[in-house]
Amino acid sequence: MGWSTVIGQTRVKRLLRGLWQAGRLPHAFLFFGPAGVGKEAAAIELARTLNCSRGEWDACGECPDCRQMATLRHPRLKLVFPLPAKENEKTAIDRLSESELEQMNEQIDAKAADPYHRIEIPKAQGIKISSIRDIRRESAFKASTHGRTVVVICEADRMNPHAANALLKTLEEPDGGMLLILTTAKRDALLPTITSRCQHVRFDPLSEDQIAKALVRRYGTTPEAAATAARVAGGNLREAVSLATGGSMIPRSEIVEFLRAIFRMEPIGLMKRIESYAATEDRRAVMAFLTGIAGWFRDVLALHEGTREQVRNTDLMEPLEKFAEHFPRLRCSDAIDAVEEAIDHITRNAHLTTVLIVLSHRIRRCMDEDTA
Ligand SMILES: [Zn+2]
Repeated sequence: MGWSTVIGQTRVKRLLRGLWQAGRLPHAFLFFGPAGVGKEAAAIELARTLNCSRGEWDACGECPDCRQMATLRHPRLKLVFPLPAKENEKTAIDRLSESELEQMNEQIDAKAADPYHRIEIPKAQGIKISSIRDIRRESAFKASTHGRTVVVICEADRMNPHAANALLKTLEEPDGGMLLILTTAKRDALLPTITSRCQHVRFDPLSEDQIAKALVRRYGTTPEAAATAARVAGGNLREAVSLATGGSMIPRSEIVEFLRAIFRMEPIGLMKRIESYAATEDRRAVMAFLTGIAGWFRDVLALHEGTREQVRNTDLMEPLEKFAEHFPRLRCSDAIDAVEEAIDHITRNAHLTTVLIVLSHRIRRCMDEDTA
């Protein structure tokens, strides 16, 4: 337990430990870097360190503070994430329905069980201003003799402009006892006035080996499935988990079939495929499928650029080579962008069929030059 919960990120751990030992932790951190590499996991672990009654770098896991921390419901740990917006709300949760509160609690439980879990609440559009206001209100009550309140703003780029402005005020007048940790995979999407008030900590993609081992050890995946998922996920543990555990829903062979239908301009065949994917209603499965498509385009790009050793789907080398040869001018980077945006839309609860139709048009346009 302790910091071994956070996979890899040795440089980050060393940096944080150094600051902690020297008593030089700032008021606000910005943890940035690719999605699914453990930024929130590290933030939560730091909260454990700061609040364990034994005061060591690795939280003991046994004291009352540690036990409460393990549920993510310790009064000195607050996770801020998108919630459904309500009219006339006084706090972030006072107008949520029973079922919305239940969903929220389930998501916190899932995060407690796996710090790499991404909290997703249906109908949540972004981080609300009321969530940011709650931080100040609650921190006023929490002066304590030991420990330090840690507020983790998960995916801070999802703050709406009002929330961002409210956060700016909090950052301008820091509450001495509180540590704010913003996490983001899109640092450029944050206001410079916010990022300039935080100490930046860069997180790295995880290695294939780190991901594969974690899949076997923590998620019970077979070594074979783990190796494939780790190779395709591009350093993102969360994507690898989704590939290894949800990926069986849509077989990988569908990647080629889907692209073939797009390329051959068979609208009816394509629509049938799209409808069958959407009919699973399993957003994770569809995201895993799309992750596989992004991985496919990354491999085609590697072949185009003559860096064959970077191909991840080595078991699909033959169809990949045929594809790369057939589309020598395919704009792979644009296609990857399109797929990543589609994944992003699905995480924001967009309609699956619509997302897939828009995506197929965009991929088609990346091919246009070739077939003209
Ligand atoms: Zn403890």
